[in-house]
Amino acid sequence: MSSHLVRRRPAVVRQEGPATRRAAERPRQGQQDAASALPALRTSAVFTATGSSARGLTAAEAAGRRAVHGPNELPAVKRGRPWRRFVAQFTDLFAIVLLVSSALTFLAYWLGRPREPATLQLALAILCVVLLNAGIGFAQEYSAERTAQSLRAMVPHTCRVLRDGERRELPARELVPGDVVILEAGDAVPADCRLVEAHEAAVNNAALTGESDPVARVAEAVPPGPPLEARNCVWMGTDLVAGTGKAVVFGTGAATEFGRIFRLTAAAPRQRTPLQRQVAVMARRVAGAALATGAALFAIRAPSGQPFVDTFVFSLGVMVALVPEGLPATLSVSLAIGVRRMARRHALVKQLLAVEALGSTSVICTDKTGTLTQAEMTVVQLWADGVSHSVTGVGYAPAGEVADPGPVRELLRAAALCCNARLVPPSGREPWRVLGDTTEGALLVAAGKAGLDPAREEARTPRVAEYPFDSVRKLMSTVHRDGDGGHFAYVKGAPVELLARCDAMDRAGKRAPLTETERAGVVAAADGMAGQGLRVLGVARRQVAGPRPPLEDVETRLTLLGLVAMYDPPRPEVRDAVDACRRAGIRIVMVTGDHPLTAEAVARRVGIVRDPAPTLVTGARLDALDDDSLDDLLAGSVELLLCRVAPEHKLRVVTALQRRGEVVAVTGDGANDAPALKHADIGVAMGASGTDVAREAAVMVLLDDSFASIGTAVGLGRSVYRNIRKFLIYLFSHNIAELVPILAATFAGFPLVPITAVQILAIDLGSDVLPALALGAEPMEPDVMNSPPRPRHERLFSAAVMGRIVFLGGIQALGVCAVFFWHIHASGIPYADFTKSDPVYREAITMVQAGIVVSQFFNALAVRTDRQSVFRAGLLTNPWLLAAGCFGIGLMAAISYVPPLQAVFHTAPLDPADWAVLAGLGALLLVAEECRKGVLRRRAAAPKGGTR
Ligand code: ATP
Repeated sequence: MSSHLVRRRPAVVRQEGPATRRAAERPRQGQQDAASALPALRTSAVFTATGSSARGLTAAEAAGRRAVHGPNELPAVKRGRPWRRFVAQFTDLFAIVLLVSSALTFLAYWLGRPREPATLQLALAILCVVLLNAGIGFAQEYSAERTAQSLRAMVPHTCRVLRDGERRELPARELVPGDVVILEAGDAVPADCRLVEAHEAAVNNAALTGESDPVARVAEAVPPGPPLEARNCVWMGTDLVAGTGKAVVFGTGAATEFGRIFRLTAAAPRQRTPLQRQVAVMARRVAGAALATGAALFAIRAPSGQPFVDTFVFSLGVMVALVPEGLPATLSVSLAIGVRRMARRHALVKQLLAVEALGSTSVICTDKTGTLTQAEMTVVQLWADGVSHSVTGVGYAPAGEVADPGPVRELLRAAALCCNARLVPPSGREPWRVLGDTTEGALLVAAGKAGLDPAREEARTPRVAEYPFDSVRKLMSTVHRDGDGGHFAYVKGAPVELLARCDAMDRAGKRAPLTETERAGVVAAADGMAGQGLRVLGVARRQVAGPRPPLEDVETRLTLLGLVAMYDPPRPEVRDAVDACRRAGIRIVMVTGDHPLTAEAVARRVGIVRDPAPTLVTGARLDALDDDSLDDLLAGSVELLLCRVAPEHKLRVVTALQRRGEVVAVTGDGANDAPALKHADIGVAMGASGTDVAREAAVMVLLDDSFASIGTAVGLGRSVYRNIRKFLIYLFSHNIAELVPILAATFAGFPLVPITAVQILAIDLGSDVLPALALGAEPMEPDVMNSPPRPRHERLFSAAVMGRIVFLGGIQALGVCAVFFWHIHASGIPYADFTKSDPVYREAITMVQAGIVVSQFFNALAVRTDRQSVFRAGLLTNPWLLAAGCFGIGLMAAISYVPPLQAVFHTAPLDPADWAVLAGLGALLLVAEECRKGVLRRRAAAPKGGTR
């Protein structure tokens, strides 16, 4: 259960100070008393007990209560004091190895006779490495948390409330006890509330009780009992998964049941992504290899007659130098950059995991309305009794006309009565908009264009019962009392479902039996409109016996009033995004509750369908297929549209695609989409229009709801993966260039080292860090969507990557070995006569260090592409990388020329000819790598090629 508690975010979480805590605790007792008394009260008494009314609170009353009860927020989860978290960084395996090494080096310095300043320098350098690493880790953790918080704040948690008798949308933190909230399926319950109206309502109480089956909720009084078991209460942190309702708030913020339990739970442990785990394993392996190398070097050099302490310190230094200390931090930074870039492009990633998975997405199952289209519905055509009526105007502004409105007035009146949405007049720069379902908004607008006033109609025939829309029935019904005390049910929904429940049609106000020919005529009319890409709804009516008839009596033997068709323009940016996905080998499957003809027309408009005969599969056909046949269907059809499906079908298709080894991203907005969103590799929820439940279940939230943002996020995910691979090749190849000269010198019997541990540390933590970060932040390459998706189980350290590390590292190593031994030999001094202070030796080791730094500059340019020539890709396209490389060379120059640094690093000033030689070696590396890429390009001339 605790996992639910920490995963969920029922209300805004804020930092809590002692004063606000006390303020929040004061009213809690009163709220708890209310909680135990309210379930047994009748609806009218609930309003009295909470000092509220059926019109909700007034704005002034709400402000007063807010001052007493504070905002409806939970206290922030504390992750421990900063100093503790800083200290925790030292418990990491690397940190421990390095701390022990530093202590041993200090000890060696202390015991050494005479005491060598170089040993002390090394001990201090290692300590600096540990501190630096801990600092980076700590800062990284903090910024990751802040990013997560700020990203979360970008999707505000809002709710619908009655204030001064008006329906408003407010941030959930504004709620106070006494507020009347309006709940719909998919809403997260924003506070503890007692229901005063419930229509087929059911909640998922998993966050509180661990029980995830939906439980029905009612509005009537129930006998006293434990508050959590009261069937007429809903609790903060739980979700309304079906139906609709109205409820009076009695507990807010920390005074809610959820708030009480929330305090008791600890923060969720941060989870590492598979990529982070792979890198951690690799880093650990390299650290193990470093330890073994250090031990081996010690074993080889100890008998050579060198002082024991020198050999020990040297071996320890090599070991420390080879440990890839900064790697995990660089990786996190790179992933975090990816997350930020995605957020800037409207895709909020809730888990780092999604950044990786996005890169290998091979199928996107997408909704239609709102994702491919603008979800701006306009009724353009009406059909009643065999006659079509056009409607003019665009959007939700009430400007436009219905041609010959007389025969369709009853159709539009019924449609408008059977709606929960509300039109909001323009304010400031905002045009007319809809609060609620856009399909219903369009019906209200059309009714207005026919001269009807939905509010007046509602007042004349008040609603007494509601059977909310659900995507399985595909119908919604309401029951109204007319002026004579009779009751009428109005039903609207998908034409096929509705027609199956009609036995008559309205003919000039009279109920006439529906013949088979007429039925076929209705279907043809509906198909004709759907074929133009319009969403079609049928509307029907019947008289019912009383105010609350059972659903079976309402939705049967109906009289069809007519059809309503609405246009929802495609989003202009989607076509390009669909094309990009095609080029990237990503399959797009449209999943919609709409009619197949509507679906096909829209899919064609946005480019998802090009084939003259795409595969159209309805929910009913899916039900008839067993798993094997479904697999065959998915394997056989490239262009697949799933139509008239319910959310359960989504889950089945996602699972089947995953069985085929696909990495599936799926979009969803309703409460019923949650299982598919959770099951998919990447659940994508809609930030603007989706439900709270879907947003909770998803790992990515689209701020603009657009399919194009998914395409961009996939591209960015691929780019993050590529960048990580680039800096891993860059960092690991120079390890080879550091190690090989040491081994070569040892085996050649040279008594000193060709590069000291302090020099290696200067490379690892000085000149190499910034280029690695700059590689991790490389801009998205234009061709990133030109290759097929990365296989699901491809390892980061694949044979190709390892081969490249050895290739690049090997060339660097050969180069620096050559300059070192050339210097030594050119001097003519026998190996045994070399001492640490020998100017030739100092020059030679300076050449080795500078050689690695310079060749790393060229290496950084080389790793930017896999196959394409870097000259074609553009050498100047990542200015940060060039700046970082120049900084590294500048640092090296300072180490070579500045006397205090010369003293620390045992270096000597290089002359221009030396730099020219090193630059030549670096250029050679670039040329060798260009040749390798040329060979690869030629081999992959067949168009199948993978990465660039
Ligand atoms: P899309 O892919 O377009 O987003 P969807 O999968 O969300 O569609 P639903 O919202 O389940 O589809 O709608 C299915 C059908 O139900 C629609 O084609 C329409 O005929 C009908 N319908 C949609 N909204 C309502 C509503 N509020 N009341 C009654 N019927 C509706």
